[in-house]
Amino acid sequence: MTLPRQKIVILGGGPGGYEAALVAAQLGADVTVVDSDGVGGACVLTDCVPSKTLIETSNAMTLLNRAAGLGIATGGLATVNAARLYERITDLARAQSGDIAARLAAEDVKVITAKGSLAGPGLVRAGDEQLKADAILIATGALPRILPGAEPDGERILTWRQLYDLTELPRDLIVIGSGVTGAEFSSAYQALGSRVTLVSSRDRVLPNEDEDAANHIEEVFRRRGMTVLGRSRARSVRRDRDSVAVALDDGRTVTGSHCLLTVGMIPRTEHIGCDEVGVKLDARGFIEVDRVSRTSVAGVYAAGDCTGVLMLASVAAMQGRIAMWHALGEAVSPLRLDHVAATIFTDPEIATVGVTQRAVNEGEVRARVLRLLLATNPRAKMAGFTEGFVKLLASRRTGEVLGGVVVAPRASELILAVSVAVEQRLTVEQLAHTFAVYPSLSGSITEAARKLMDFTPDPP
Ligand SMILES: Cc1cc2nc3c(=O)[nH]c(=O)nc-3n(C[C@H](O)[C@H](O)[C@H](O)COP(=O)(O)OP(=O)(O)OC[C@H]3O[C@@H](n4cnc5c(N)ncnc54)[C@H](O)[C@@H]3O)c2cc1C
Repeated sequence: MTLPRQKIVILGGGPGGYEAALVAAQLGADVTVVDSDGVGGACVLTDCVPSKTLIETSNAMTLLNRAAGLGIATGGLATVNAARLYERITDLARAQSGDIAARLAAEDVKVITAKGSLAGPGLVRAGDEQLKADAILIATGALPRILPGAEPDGERILTWRQLYDLTELPRDLIVIGSGVTGAEFSSAYQALGSRVTLVSSRDRVLPNEDEDAANHIEEVFRRRGMTVLGRSRARSVRRDRDSVAVALDDGRTVTGSHCLLTVGMIPRTEHIGCDEVGVKLDARGFIEVDRVSRTSVAGVYAAGDCTGVLMLASVAAMQGRIAMWHALGEAVSPLRLDHVAATIFTDPEIATVGVTQRAVNEGEVRARVLRLLLATNPRAKMAGFTEGFVKLLASRRTGEVLGGVVVAPRASELILAVSVAVEQRLTVEQLAHTFAVYPSLSGSITEAARKLMDFTPDPP
């Protein structure tokens, strides 16, 4: 006798949802994804993929504008064709969503395009349909937070999801919010040719990131002509025909052609039946989950931005997969956040993994920290840039690599070596004995490890 296939229903087709669907299908479950706005989710259609595509073009602009220094005559300043750029971005995002839809179809995952909600124990409402489920995964994502008094109009006052509908490049862009999203768009638009003013309510940009990296990027921003207004909280944004005026708390007003709001995200957990079924939310509306993605209700799991655990596509996908492994009775390791590698795609990029210098400074971890500037790296000199550094953190007791920061072009690729070291608990000695290509930026990682070998370990 064959057992009936387990029925899985997933609300939301972003990385939290579709990666879970693929795992569940692989394990033989009968899987349905209910998604309202297109598979791939906000990640593919409006957030991660479009922004990184925009940044590829801004990186190319930076290279072109450095060309003269590399001995290339370009015959003038390169300029951006905004309509073509935005068309490329939206085409690419749609194609990526299409690829995911095709993968789901190939794995026999059913996709229903509708708004869904929990309708009772083991029941999901999808438009007019009721679906029975042995396990449910909620992966409905999050929405841009809106400042009261600064409501977007989609033309001059914008969230990042509305940028790609513009027909021209903002001439004078005011970015409100200096977290990861604000820093990435400020960096990109400045390279594309906009005049950028970054309004930050904090002392420095990227207040939650490695302090050396954040200070470094702020210095780069200023040196390239960006206006960075620190400790300046935006109170309201007003549109006057072709311009915007941002009123700050201290009474000043900043004017520009467009204003981009990057002041955080709110979870999409309203009207999805959490109250009716008893799924617990925290004070900010995020779904409470444990490290195997279980909510407060048996058989209901949650993954991704709607949980607020760590708003990264890679984390959403891992939470979704873990939920399915758990629901379908597979062996599963709980989610570990201390080894997550992340990148801020400014120019240069900031990539991080593992223990932070803040944890060391605050006495939570005993580690030696070494920072090596890229200015002396031969490959960096050849490529014509001098900005950036590699930082390694190693245990004072065992010499194990505990974490690292890379600030460099394509740091997102370079961080893998440090990630492997952290994950596999390699010592600085083992990293130092690993061959790096000469000349290469990764040579600075092994050099930093060599410098860290030269210490006497603390007694156990
Ligand atoms: C500008 C920006 C850049 C980013 N860049 C990166 C990056 O470079 N790397 C990285 O790792 N992360 C990045 N992120 C974060 C990443 O985009 C998110 O962490 C990721 O999208 C979370 O995936 P998710 O599945 O939880 O939600 P989403 O991707 O938001 O998908 C949720 C899906 O659920 C659907 N949905 C919502 N409610 C319902 C409902 N009631 N019924 C049916 N469907 C519903 C939505 O339509 C959507 O399709 C970025 C975020 C932003 C804002």
